[in-house]
Amino acid sequence: MSERILVIEDEERIAEFIERGLLFEGYRVDVAYDGHAGLAMARDNPPDLVVIDWMLPGIDGIEVTKRLRAAMQVPIVMLTAKSDVADRVVGLDAGADDYIVKPFAFEELIARIRALFRRSSPNSRPEILTFADLTLDTGTHRAQRNGRMIDLTAKEYELLELFMRHPRQVLTRDLIFDRVWGYDFGGESNIIEVYVRYLRQKTEEQGEPRLLHTVRGFGYVLREEEE
Ligand code: CA
Repeated sequence: MSERILVIEDEERIAEFIERGLLFEGYRVDVAYDGHAGLAMARDNPPDLVVIDWMLPGIDGIEVTKRLRAAMQVPIVMLTAKSDVADRVVGLDAGADDYIVKPFAFEELIARIRALFRRSSPNSRPEILTFADLTLDTGTHRAQRNGRMIDLTAKEYELLELFMRHPRQVLTRDLIFDRVWGYDFGGESNIIEVYVRYLRQKTEEQGEPRLLHTVRGFGYVLREEEE
């Protein structure tokens, strides 16, 4: 059975963005739009992890976090639009295990969720993702192909990790945007093409066969052969 994640976020657009991403990753998701509803859901259906927004109507995220902490052992990630250190300390003092500053890309959130789940299962290590002759180390963030180490920038890593976790699956441009650039990304839309090009350059440097293919009109797919 996959883990159940409770999302407490009053902004529907962001709640949906998170829910969509988590469902795509195979988690079970409950969504509450305010603190009271979130606490009630947590009581009725104990979650394996909670993602909670700081600023909520009624009781705020800090208070909800304190009450959850008093009632159960559950990893908590707090979302906050405030980035300064004092706020972060208040959030962590209240019992959040990690926090993330808005706006964020889904990959940033899922990386923390995976890390918290790993932390709660002892003896776990960073994963090595493998596809064909390409590997990706989720600890060092380096790829390897054909015995050659490939250094990646942060965005290149996030993009490649997304493909490596969903091999042979066509990923649409919208999904890639959500996942790697976030819901508030207002940049020019050729950014995906640019980063795919970087990844191809790095992974095909020695003339290796292409793994990252364009699916015209849809998006991209990691697979061994052109179809
Ligand atoms: Ca809010």
